[in-house]
Amino acid sequence: MSSAKYIFVTGGVTSSLGKGIISSSLAMLLQSRGYSVTVQKLDPYINVDPGTLNPYEHGECYVTEDGAETDLDLGHYERFLNMPTTRLNNVTTGQVYQSVIDKERRGDFLGKTVQVIPHITDEIKCRIKRVAEKSDLDIVITEIGGTVGDIESLPYIESVRQMKWEMGSSNCIVIHLTLVPYLQTSGELKTKPTQHSVKVLLENGIQPDVLVLRTQRTLTEDVREKVALFCNVEISSVIESIDVDIIYEVPIYMLKEKLDVTTLRKLKLAARREPHLRPWKDFIHKLKNPRSTVKIGLVGKYIELQDAYKSINEAFTHAGAVNESRVEVVYVHSEGIKETNVDKKLGGVNGILVAPGFGTRGIVGKILAAKFAREKNIPFLGICLGMQCAVIEFARNVLLLQGANSTEMDKGTPYPVIDLMEEQKSIVDKGGTMRLGAYACRITEDSKSYRAYRTTEVKERHRHRYEFNNAYLEDFSRAGMKAVGINPETGLVEIIEIQDHIWFVGVQFHPEYSSTVLRPHPLFVEFIRNALLI
Ligand code: GLN
Repeated sequence: MSSAKYIFVTGGVTSSLGKGIISSSLAMLLQSRGYSVTVQKLDPYINVDPGTLNPYEHGECYVTEDGAETDLDLGHYERFLNMPTTRLNNVTTGQVYQSVIDKERRGDFLGKTVQVIPHITDEIKCRIKRVAEKSDLDIVITEIGGTVGDIESLPYIESVRQMKWEMGSSNCIVIHLTLVPYLQTSGELKTKPTQHSVKVLLENGIQPDVLVLRTQRTLTEDVREKVALFCNVEISSVIESIDVDIIYEVPIYMLKEKLDVTTLRKLKLAARREPHLRPWKDFIHKLKNPRSTVKIGLVGKYIELQDAYKSINEAFTHAGAVNESRVEVVYVHSEGIKETNVDKKLGGVNGILVAPGFGTRGIVGKILAAKFAREKNIPFLGICLGMQCAVIEFARNVLLLQGANSTEMDKGTPYPVIDLMEEQKSIVDKGGTMRLGAYACRITEDSKSYRAYRTTEVKERHRHRYEFNNAYLEDFSRAGMKAVGINPETGLVEIIEIQDHIWFVGVQFHPEYSSTVLRPHPLFVEFIRNALLI
């Protein structure tokens, strides 16, 4: 039995208040005070995982080391905590129902009527506790997706109520995040929406322990007192979360507001040490005081929604800080790039990143972007589909293999330089069936990638079905595009580089998933360093 303590983070009034950032910030502060902590996300939707969701619907699909396709908030947890998450860190209603129904079919509930309470709620509680037990953690922070009052989050809220009742208030607390809007006309901060959303929680049997109020303006003492009185919390448990430009500043504000000490007091835990935030603060200082600006063209087809490239954007932020440079990301829609305008679209950038993706839409523009980077000697990073596009481009224009393609785009291509992986050929289901998670990659010493990583053995995360076709390896190598990263077990190509180029690197994996504040990804750092040279 684990003796972990549980913190639940719920949201009221509206979505997008930043529960993920508040949860991550609190986790980071508790970690810096000597506790082992993780953050878990409960998503009330019925999809088993977001892997089958369109990025326009749900933003980026994040991938854990153990190969789960998860909510992008897990990316924040890792970036703040500098610790990997696992598939246990993300639970969806789809997963919960699937396992309860599987148990029912096996006969585990034989004779019983299977119901939301207790069967669904038991499954939810079990999945919350499993995270703590598996890694023997002191504290688990569980973020509940959606807003209280949503029909689909009711079983989660009920599970929280039960856990609070079962474990007692010093082992299980609820932090409720709401919005205090400022009304221009009356010049006032309004607390009524907060009062209403706390009422919804109370109707469901939960008295929140701490309230975090998102606000554009500093909360007056008056407002704090009013919220405390009407929502039945101590005044010290009313925490201000003022809008900030940089999400990484939130922990610093939360420290000032004493969210960590308030939480520890409620959980009857002592701070084991003073937080050591020097490296974090140094990072923020560099972020806010860049010596230069570097412009990176991000070529993708989901650029209308920046959340679709969340981890890439964050990796740029981390790498920019290391280089003491502001990375200005110029979003270039791959569908808009034509032979006639590629100059105009990408002319002014210092580096080009071709993004991951699926399917034919926008592929022409991505291939043109890779060609432009190669010919104009502009630093280039191709990620997954971006790497595959660089390979296709090189095959067509350097090896002169007319019609070379990926079989994802053209099944009948005469030169399938990118082809479906052998183990993928018999797969029909779409969900969770790609090559997913961390795999080893061995790096050649004489390469740009080695200069970035400074090691020959790395592990990186994947999410793809297609791969470089090794039948063409020698032709590519002879013409100057080398496979410098190889999976040692399977021989799969993981990294390609063009030798005669300032910095041209394509990776079959996703380096962006593992870049954190305290451990910026070496490939992004090197990419930006080289972009600064031109
Ligand atoms: N569509 C490509 C594949 O499945 C690339 C995937 C990606 O970019 N994540 O191999």
